[in-house]
This record gives sequence, structure tokens and C-alpha cells, in this order.
Amino acid sequence: MTAAPTPLMQQYREIKARHQNAILFFRMGEFYEMFYEDADTASRVLGLTLTARNNGGAAEVPLAGVPVKAAGDYVRRLVQQGFRVAICEQVEDPRVAKGVVRREVIETVTPGVAYSDDLLDGGRNNFICAVSSPARGAGADVVGIAAADVSTGELRLITTPASELDPLLARIAPREILLAAGSTQHLPPSRSDALITERELWEFDEALARDDLARQFSVLSLDGLGIDAGDSLAVGAAGALLRYLRELQPAGLPQLARPAIERPGGVMPLDEMTRRNLELVESLRGGGSEGTLLSVLDRTGTPMGARLLRHWILAPLTTREAIDARLDAVERLAQDPAAREALRDALDDVRDVERLGAKAAAGRSTPRELRALGDSLAALPAVASAVQRVATGGRLAEMLATWDDAAELASHIRATLVERPPIMVGEETTIAPGVDSDLDALRELRDGGRDAIARIQSDERTRTGIASLKVGFNKVFGYYIEVTKSNLHLVPPDYQRRQTITNGERFVTAALKEHEERVLSAAERIEARERELFEQVRASAGREIARLQRIARVVAELDVLATFADVAAREGYTRPAITDDFELDIVAGRHPVVERMMPRDKFIPNDLHLVHDARMIILTGPNMAGKSTVLRQIGLIALMAQIGSFVPAANARVGVIDRIFTRVGASDNLVRGQSTFMVEMSETSAILHTATARSLVLLDEIGRGTATYDGVSIAWAVTEHVHEKIGCKTVFATHYHELTQLADELSALRNYNVAVREVGEQILFLHRLQPGGADRSYGIEVGRLAGLPQPVIARAREMLALLEGEQLVRGEQLGVRAPRRHPAPTDQLGLFAAAPHPVVERLASVDVNAMTPLEALTLLASLSDEARRPA
Ligand code: ADP
Ligand code: MG
Repeated sequence: MTAAPTPLMQQYREIKARHQNAILFFRMGEFYEMFYEDADTASRVLGLTLTARNNGGAAEVPLAGVPVKAAGDYVRRLVQQGFRVAICEQVEDPRVAKGVVRREVIETVTPGVAYSDDLLDGGRNNFICAVSSPARGAGADVVGIAAADVSTGELRLITTPASELDPLLARIAPREILLAAGSTQHLPPSRSDALITERELWEFDEALARDDLARQFSVLSLDGLGIDAGDSLAVGAAGALLRYLRELQPAGLPQLARPAIERPGGVMPLDEMTRRNLELVESLRGGGSEGTLLSVLDRTGTPMGARLLRHWILAPLTTREAIDARLDAVERLAQDPAAREALRDALDDVRDVERLGAKAAAGRSTPRELRALGDSLAALPAVASAVQRVATGGRLAEMLATWDDAAELASHIRATLVERPPIMVGEETTIAPGVDSDLDALRELRDGGRDAIARIQSDERTRTGIASLKVGFNKVFGYYIEVTKSNLHLVPPDYQRRQTITNGERFVTAALKEHEERVLSAAERIEARERELFEQVRASAGREIARLQRIARVVAELDVLATFADVAAREGYTRPAITDDFELDIVAGRHPVVERMMPRDKFIPNDLHLVHDARMIILTGPNMAGKSTVLRQIGLIALMAQIGSFVPAANARVGVIDRIFTRVGASDNLVRGQSTFMVEMSETSAILHTATARSLVLLDEIGRGTATYDGVSIAWAVTEHVHEKIGCKTVFATHYHELTQLADELSALRNYNVAVREVGEQILFLHRLQPGGADRSYGIEVGRLAGLPQPVIARAREMLALLEGEQLVRGEQLGVRAPRRHPAPTDQLGLFAAAPHPVVERLASVDVNAMTPLEALTLLASLSDEARRPA
């Protein structure tokens, strides 16, 4: 005999062959079974016991299974770990099947394509992206992206310069990315948390995709969708994405809204570093949202609003008109607390219309969810009337003019479903009385049957004289008459015995069975009819998906605008003046997050004024003075202004900024735990390549990740380059007070320091920005405050005096005081690559613990000699 697999395993292999990159949940009765490597993976990830299954003559097969009832949780855990799970069901009744039951994969769940609430976060989108690999040759510097969130039905087609792919993906934060096979090198490394799915190159073909998109959205030409020739890469990406989504959902592609088209220029790209260093939506430590700008601003009332707020924070606007449109609306709401409160109260009754609508369209909503959709829609008129009194013009008036609350759909849902429907059609009532005469008749029949059965109890008690006789019901035997042991002698002959229990017997009678039949068949038909009616109303909601999505967008926008107004009132923010000038002028600015961590009014506000002729600031001051805080608060105020929010300042004028860059020197940089100098330098280099005169560059201790003189030199060269070649607004916080000398040479550079006051040997942090450079670094005072022992402090003071004496000498050697030069870019690269000083290299290789004091002293003497020799 050859080792032939059983027919079942044969079937398994055929199906698995088509779903190789997924874990296959293979339905067998009340279990989903996994075999072979899937079993290994599942047992490892889910902690399941691995067993083996007999496979005819062939070798035994490793097996792990999960009960169908608990499958949801296992799927969630696998998907959260980045796996795809293909759900394979039995698609014919095993009782009538000839041979092996037919099975099919009905759905594949992946991190990027999920509907289940356990896999989704209300406050954020769950995007899957397809990225079209740039074609060689023409247009190779442009990338097309299609991003879809099936849980909300959003679809975006985005075209962006290749250099901006990273910030773009950082903004969208996709959980899964589709790429043409072999093109993963185009992906920025920072996207490592997304699942990468490789697809065939031809699937990204634009011509194929055009037809597909036109069919999907029932348009003759893509012009009707606002798509033009410049979007071709994004169209190709959308084609690949739709094909993949169809593969995952063989029953039909999820309902997607008409695509939103994004082209370069409308929003500010924020690279990963800036997004993280400004702690916009994720904190540097831990990555949660605590201590972020999002956490300060997020007072939204709806999940749509929360998602839109996050989106706005990560995509500041870059045109004055668009920013002012938002600010106008916020101002109206900010000035009318009553309207704002009414609006926020009304929004409280609106649930996630977007996801509930998408679920209805996908045929996945439960009765309870559909009712929630109806109730949410019914709350919209209150939202509109709250807006009414402030909508005297602008965006708010525009929203009201095109207001739609799908009133007929709301009343249809609310009239059809009972007020609190169950999560499943079945035992409890879903469809309201009076909706359907057939259903009402069936219910009467059932209730009549129940009444009749209830009557049987009293009739039989009278007939038999057994006062304790009871009619009961269970799933196995249906209705029965129960008689206790002591009364069994009174049972009439027409009772048929069905079951013996501890203290009696259970019987049925012909009359009881007859009514039971009526009740049960009525109940069955009621459930079927309820399901039918429910699915009808759900489908009618599903057909309105495009409208529901529009409604959701309006609600989200109102929610965020009201939130901005609310936060502004609560936190004392003011409306920034947006201009097309160069100037950034902040009067009494505060850090929106840091100020909330201290008692009210304890935060010291600071002014900042950057104009073309004074556009760069070197900010010095000792550690803990508040340099980083002031630096970030400048970036946050500019960003808040450009998302349309009021700002924490007494007054602010913001000339529209095209991009904000924030870099933090390696030793301050906790991001990704990668505190290497190389990372710091490559990030700095990216700024030098992409910043324009309209950018805002914020550098915090750049150059710190290397030896002091290298660091100063690099900082020096970077500052010169930014000043001469880029000409943008720049604030550079540094504890290298050497850099303050740059002001002598660079005309638009100013020195500022964060004030400290010396009181005796103590220092007091005033956290106040003042003109001029800091003359000392106060590092030793900080050390003393931190509790270094007195002798160590005293010795450190001696050493400082010694070193400061030497520094003058070495400063000359370095050319720090040399006349101004204009180094060519290649010169600067040379600086970037500077090797560590030989003394530093020797020091790094020394094991102090293994030395005798004498050896150490000798080494010190020789190092000191070497250090004195000119390099
Ligand atoms: P530096 O970067 O100069 O070392 P930081 O900006 O990190 O200093 O500030 C150190 C601490 O000082 C902050 O954590 C904060 O508690 C406090 N601080 C900073 N700026 C202010 C301010 N303007 N008002 C009040 N406290 C401040
Ligand atoms: Mg700092």
C-alpha cells in the first residue's frame, strides 16, 4: 500500500494551497482545526496543545484546534500578532453530504482588513495601504498609494513625492501594506510594525485598475471620480488593493465610499521623528497617548470625531484660506458657550455612524447595532439645531445648507426594530409589533398556544385533583406535565410517560403535544420572518452607505470644531492670526502639554519673534532650564494654528509654514531606543535636503551624540548651511555655548538663553527666554542639585577651570574663531564623517577596573600629552 492521505486531508491540502500565507481555520464540526505548520504556529502563539491526527497510510499530521464558540478571541489574538487567518467553513450539511463535506474559505481576516470590534479602536482608523512601486525612469520620484479602511468604508488615493512616503505612511499608520513582489526596498524602515503583503507586479497595472475602479463605483470614466492622469500610480495601487480585498472577502467586496483624492501640497508632511518628538499622538516613552497633544485636544464626543482629530493633527493645512475656514468656525463656537454645549450634548447621542453604516452595508450588523445606527441618525436634528444659531456664515453655514440626516432611514429603522433589540435574531424580539401582519399573526398563534398550554395546567389540576401538577418546558422533551412521586397514583391513563426525575415523573398528553407543535412551529416561523425583515431593513441601511459616510464626515468635522472651541475656552487659548508672510510671532506662548502638568499659572510663558532678518535662534542655557520645552512649544503652537485650533499664547501670528522638522540629539533621543550618532546625523541630513525657506526647523542638542569638538563642529556647519542655503525659521537649542559666537557672523541669527539666577552657589531656573547667549553651562550646579557629593563638586569646579583654560587654545585650532567661510556641501560631508579623536579612541578601549593606580596614572599622563599635541 502506498501512503495515501485520507480524502479529508486531501481536501485540506487543496484549500491550504490557495491560502498559503494565512493560518487556515478548517471547520470540523464544533471545532476549527489547524494542521501542519499552522498547528505549530497556533500552539506557539495561542498556547494550544499540539496533538496528531491519523492520516490514513501517510504520516501523522500535527493538529491543534479551537472551539467554534471561542474562535473570535483566537482570531483576534492571531491577527493582533500580525497573522492572517482564513476561515474555512463547511458549506453543505454534513448529514446529506456524500463523501467529504464541501468546504470553502468564506473570509480571511488580516491586521489591515477587520470588522470585529475587538480588533478595532474607536479612536483610530484601521487602514490597509497599497503602495505602487515607482516605475523606473520617468516619474520615478513619485509614489501612488491607495488606502482603505473597510471598517468605515473610506478609500483614499494619494500621490506623493517618493521622499514623502515615510511621513505619509506615518500619518496613515497602516496595519498592513501591499507591495509589488520584490519592491520592499522602497518601503521606509519605520513601517516595520505593519504586516507586509507582497502581490504580483501586474496587479498594480493602471489600465486594469481603471476598469476595475469604474465598475466598482459605477462610473463610465474615472473623471467622474475626480481622478486624473496625475493619479495613475495611485489608481494602479487601488486596483491591487481592490483585488486583494475581494480575495479576502469572496462573498463580495466591502462597501467603499467614492475615493478621496489627495495630491501633494495640501497638507504638511510630518516625518516620523517630528511626529514623535513633538509627541503629537504618541508619547516618546511608552507610545501611549498620555502626555501628547492629542490627549490635550481630544474632547471629542464621537468616534468619528476622534478619528478625524487624529487625522487633522497629523495633516496640518498649508493654505491660509483652508486654515481660516476652520478657525472661523471654531471662533463662532468659542464665542457662544451655550451653542457649543448644546452641540456637544447632541453629539453625545451619536454613535459611530461610519462604522455602523459600513457594518450594515457588509451585512454584519447585529439588531442592536442597527438600532444604534437609527437612534444616532435620529439625534442629528438636535445637532443641526444646535449649530443653527452660530452658523451665520462660512463652513458651519455650508454644512447646514447641505444638511442631511437620513430622516426616513432613521424612522424606518426605529419603527421596524424594537427599542432594545437583542444582539441576535432569535429568542428575544427584534421586530416591533405592528410592522408585519404575518409576523403579528404568527405571534398570536404562538401566544395563543402558550395560553392554551397554561390553561392545560389548571384544567389538568382540576381533572386529576393533583394540586402540585405543573406544566414545564425543556429543550429536549419540549412541553411536559410534571407529577411528584406521591401523586403518581392519580395520573390518568391517557398520560404518556416521557421521563423519570428524582422526585417524580414527566408526562405528555395529545392535547399538550398539539399545542406544543403550534407554539414551536410558530416560534420557528417567527424567527425566520424576523430574520427576513431584519435583513431587509439592514439592507436598506446598507444601500444608503454613501450617504451615511457623508453624514459621518459632517458629524466628525462638527465634533472636532466644537472640541477645538471647547478646549480653547477651557485652557485659555487664543485665535492665531494666519498670514502669508514669513513671520512667526508668539506672545506669551505656553507648552500645551507641559502647562497642564503643573498647577495653573505656574508655567512661565515666553515670547518668540522670528522674521526674515532675524530668523534663527541659538538657544542656550543649562540643563533643566527649559530649552526643550520652549523649542517644542514653538513647534506645537505653529502646528496647532495650522490644524485650525486656537493656541496657548496671548497672541500669535503664524505665517503659513510648509513643513515642521524637529530633531533631538542622540543622547536626548529615546525614540526606538536607538541612540546612535549615525541616526541623528542621517535625520539631520534629511532636513538639510528637504527644508525650504517656508519650513520651521527645530533642533534640540544636535551633535551631542559624539565627542564635544565633533559635535560643536557639526552643529556649527549645520547652522551655517541652514542660514545661508535654506533660510528658514530655525531654533537650535544647545548647551554648546561656543555656538553663540555664530551670531557675529550670521546676520539673521540671534542668541537667546533661558534665564537662570544664581543665588550664592545655587541656581534658580526662571524658565524665561531672554536675548543673549548663556555664558556658562551650569552643568556642575545641576550635578549638585542632583546630589553629587560635595568633594566631587569641588573637584569638578577645579577641572572646569582647567579645561576652560585649554579650550581657548583648542578653539583656535578648530577654527571656531576663524573668519567665516562658505563651505561647499562636500566639505560638510567631510565634517559629518569626522573620525573620533585618537585620545577618545584610546580611552574607549581602556578597562579601568583591570588597572593598577600606577598604570592608570601613567596612561592619564600619556593621554594628556597626546591631547596637547596638535592633531
Ligand atoms: P532643558 O531642555 O533646558 O534641559 P527642559 O525643557 O527639559 O529643559 O525643561 C526641564 C523642566 O523644566 C521641564 O520638565 C519642566 O518641568 C520645567 N519647565 C520648562 N519650561 C518651563 C516653563 N516655561 N515654565 C515652567 N516650568 C518649565
Ligand atoms: Mg533638553
